[in-house]
Amino acid sequence: MTGRSAFVVGWPIAHSRSPLIHGFWLKRHGIDGDYRAEAVPPDAIDAFFASFAERGYSGGNVTLPHKEAAFRACGRLTPVAERLQAANTLWLDGETLSGDNTDLYGFTANLDENVSDWRGGERALILGAGGASRAVIEALIAAGFGTVDLLNRTPARAAALAAHFGKAVRPGGLDLVPKLLPSADLIINATSAGLHDDAGLAIDWQAARSSAIATDLVYVPLVTPFLAAAADRGLRIVDGLGMLLHQAVPGFERWFGVRPEVDAEIRALVVADLAR
Ligand code: NAP
Repeated sequence: MTGRSAFVVGWPIAHSRSPLIHGFWLKRHGIDGDYRAEAVPPDAIDAFFASFAERGYSGGNVTLPHKEAAFRACGRLTPVAERLQAANTLWLDGETLSGDNTDLYGFTANLDENVSDWRGGERALILGAGGASRAVIEALIAAGFGTVDLLNRTPARAAALAAHFGKAVRPGGLDLVPKLLPSADLIINATSAGLHDDAGLAIDWQAARSSAIATDLVYVPLVTPFLAAAADRGLRIVDGLGMLLHQAVPGFERWFGVRPEVDAEIRALVVADLAR
């Protein structure tokens, strides 16, 4: 019998660790299936979504820059994908292309796993207002944060994103970091600054609460300059790899019928690959 197949589609896609993660889980669970990377440029993505079943795929993951195109292509969406206006997990329900967004779940599950008291916070500070920030805001509101300060290099983008939410989400520019940092219980880097060892954001952490938690969505390097400086100040830190691992769980379960576990073994496998 031919096994089931799933994909991760992006442009570019060579950097993706998703084939490593899903390949490990397929092997662990003895499933006759495969998971492949597909590099598809923006002008060919709609045709890809319309024809992946003919190529033997049950569904797959969608990464940059195609999450909004995936959202538009779906005939059916989960409530969370509908709210985020982006889909990162696809499958066919009969003949209907269906989509979910598991970034919110991944962000939440990563914090739940590593800092169980994070939900008790009152104020959160998010740096960055791109596609991923929207899932982070939803996760923070669902976790009960009363105030979310959303700061971005381009303040207008923060204002546009905040407009989707109520008064609890307050937009501004990165110049407000020194003013807002002292009252933040949770500080999130949702910018791509710090990626691949660039200098990252210059933050003076001295004013931060020592009880605060810092987390980064970037996981290359695993400990970004943002997280390293927060740890030097004595804050608890949570890296972004856990989010990547947890967001992969719902898709694997949907395509292959087994809910995989995020544990030390899968984490070590990806950490070793990142170090290469
Ligand atoms: P995006 O839509 O391209 O947004 C990028 C954000 O980073 C914008 O807010 C942008 O500000 C800001 N930015 C970029 N370079 C900057 C710099 N040098 N200084 C200050 N701000 C800068 O990307 P995204 O989808 O939101 O993703 C953000 C990051 O999260 C990416 O690195 C992505 O790989 C990562 N991510 C990780 C996971 C995970 O599972 N761990 C999941 C999703 C995303 P402007 O608006 O001013 O340009």
